[in-house]
Amino acid sequence: MRIKIDMKVKIVTFLKSLYLERRCLLCTTPFVHAHDVLCLSCRKDLYIEKRQCKKCGFLLENKGEYCSFCLENKTPWTTFAFSTCYDGQIIKYLHQLKFYQNTNSLKLFELLLIDAFSCSFHKNTFPDIIIPVPIHKKRLFKRGINHSLVLANKMKDTGILVDKNILLRIKNTPVQHKLKRKQRLLNLKNAFHVQGDLVKGKHILLLDDVYTTGATIKECIEILKKAGAREVSVLVVAVTPLERKSSGELKKNEK
Ligand SMILES: [Zn+2]
Ligand SMILES: [Zn+2]
Repeated sequence: MRIKIDMKVKIVTFLKSLYLERRCLLCTTPFVHAHDVLCLSCRKDLYIEKRQCKKCGFLLENKGEYCSFCLENKTPWTTFAFSTCYDGQIIKYLHQLKFYQNTNSLKLFELLLIDAFSCSFHKNTFPDIIIPVPIHKKRLFKRGINHSLVLANKMKDTGILVDKNILLRIKNTPVQHKLKRKQRLLNLKNAFHVQGDLVKGKHILLLDDVYTTGATIKECIEILKKAGAREVSVLVVAVTPLERKSSGELKKNEK
C-alpha cells in the first residue's frame, strides 16, 4: 500500500514538473509548452500592435508603418528594431536587471531581442558588430553590471561579434531622463569615444535596453559614423511611447 502511494506521489510530481510547474515569467500562469517563457496571453500583450512608428517608436495616428516625421526626415540609423512598448511588467523587469543585477528575466529579454532582431534583419543585411551602449566605469563600479552588455551577450546565437571595447563612455554624466532636453544634449557632448579603427566600413548594431528620446543613441551613432562606420542600426528591448509636441520635440506619452 505504502509503495503504491509513493508511486502515485512520484507520478504526480513528475507530471507537475512536466506541465504545471512551468509558469509564465510575466503573469506566473502555469502553461504546458516546456520550452516557452511566456504564456500565450502575455505574448500577445507584448507583441500587440502598439501602433508605434517602426523608425522611432512615436505613437502613430495614421495606418502606415512610419510617422510623418520619419517619412519626411532622414533618421540617423539604417534599421531600428525593437520588441515592445516600455510599460507594465517590462519596466519592472528591466529595472531589476539594471539596478539590482537581477538576471531572472534574462531569458525573457533574450527571446524579445532575438525575435525583434530576426524580424528586422536578414542574412544579407546582418550587421558586422554588435556594440552595447556603454556606461562610465564609475557607474559600472556602482551598479556592478552594464545591462546593455549583459543583453548584448544574449545575441551570441546570431554569430555576430559582440564588442564592448570599441565604444567607451569617457564622461560620467547624470542620468539622462532626469534632465531637460537642452541639458541632455549638452550633457552628452564629448561623452563617448571610439577606440581603434575596427568600425571602419562596418555595419554596426547598437544595443540598449530602452529607447526614450534617443539622445544617447543618436550621439553614439554620430561618433561611430565619424570613426568611419558605414552604417549604424539600433536594437532595443522596448521603446517608450512618445508623442511629438508641435515644436517637433518628443515627449513621454502620459496616457
Ligand atoms: Zn503570462
Ligand atoms: Zn517615426
